[in-house]
Amino acid sequence: MASIENYDFNGKKAIVRVDFNVPLDENGNITDDTRIRGALPTLQKILNDGGSLIIMSHMGKPKGKVNPKLSLSQIKDAVAKALGRDVEFAPDCAAAGDMAAALKPGQVLLLENLRFYPEEEGKPVGIDKADPGYDAAKKEMKERQKEFAKTLASYADVYVNDAFGTAHRRHASTAVIADYFDNDHKMLGLLMEKEVKAVDNILNNIKRPFTAIMGGSKVSTKIGIIENLMDKVDNLILCGGMTYTFAKAMGGNVGQSICETDKLDLALDIMKKAKEKGVNLVLGTDCVAADSFSNDAKTQVVSVMDIPEGWEGLDAGPETRKAFADVIRNSKTILWNGPAGVFEFDNFTAGSRAIADAIVEATKNGAFSLVGGGDSVACINKFGLADEVSYVSTGGGALLEAIEGKVLPGIAAVKG
Ligand code: AMP
Repeated sequence: MASIENYDFNGKKAIVRVDFNVPLDENGNITDDTRIRGALPTLQKILNDGGSLIIMSHMGKPKGKVNPKLSLSQIKDAVAKALGRDVEFAPDCAAAGDMAAALKPGQVLLLENLRFYPEEEGKPVGIDKADPGYDAAKKEMKERQKEFAKTLASYADVYVNDAFGTAHRRHASTAVIADYFDNDHKMLGLLMEKEVKAVDNILNNIKRPFTAIMGGSKVSTKIGIIENLMDKVDNLILCGGMTYTFAKAMGGNVGQSICETDKLDLALDIMKKAKEKGVNLVLGTDCVAADSFSNDAKTQVVSVMDIPEGWEGLDAGPETRKAFADVIRNSKTILWNGPAGVFEFDNFTAGSRAIADAIVEATKNGAFSLVGGGDSVACINKFGLADEVSYVSTGGGALLEAIEGKVLPGIAAVKG
């Protein structure tokens, strides 16, 4: 694998996979351009060296069909503004050869949404997994995926993968394309390098105590990472909606709170494993319960073990917030994924806010803090504290899989 810092792009055409899957409002305006800003160092490095750029990305889930609402033409002007130069748009990413060939040093071509082609994801369309013809269709699609990747590769001299958010997928543009470049002509982008380093700090360069804070709605979606972290962390704070699955498993009454009744054994098993491994498992003890799922609901602070019928826990209570903050403040490595309450409602942000404040304090005192996974990023942005933690990851599923210790196909393919 080549290194982007040492590579001279002068006179070269680089095809760069970025993650420009930015949120748009109903008029097609970008509501958060973090992902575009995140890719700029890589794109500018190539242009400043005297290279030309072919930028490719997906947007949303068009499932292999053209969908104008998910067209990347909507973000062309924003990309041009961010780069401070004109951007050409290729409306068909599989037929952009002539436009790519015509690029001069310093020029930029943005390809249409890769996922308008089923070949990008490489999954057969319109056929059920249970269907007898599925395996043959899958095999055929894999061949088509290779052809699609080869076409994309033919546009450029060099391939750069800077899309951490999709690095856990073996798609045409994130992994298969790398097979068409030799080791000296494929590399990770600068954003990707930062992400890899941040994950490495969490996995291999741990300063203790190491505290992981896992929140969000359900324990079932986080079980892989919780089990993996159990071997690494000193403290494991579990919060958010999963609190109530644990409370119920311990014999509590959780009222209307979100609760996975089929995961009660799993919750007990996590508690047992934490004990065996000497991990300090910290669960909520009190909560802010609401009489409906709304910002303006009536509230009361109650024990998580004794939530009245008709009420639901929507945020961590004051005793819990203090307990979480005390553990976090004394930590030297911190990972936060998932809010401690329904932070989208302003009246139920206190738990997440207490966590964020304690992380900021610990970071000021020298801790390494990594915040990642969609909702915790939205949460830290809402509090305006993103610049006060060590690293905010752009990856959701990719970050969790990397921390679970899985090899990400998008990174492995480039490393060769
Ligand atoms: P996840 O995608 O699993 O990380 O979950 C994030 C979502 O969990 C956010 O939209 C939160 O509103 C939600 N959440 C957090 N705490 C609770 C709770 N106590 N009850 C219901 N939803 C919650």
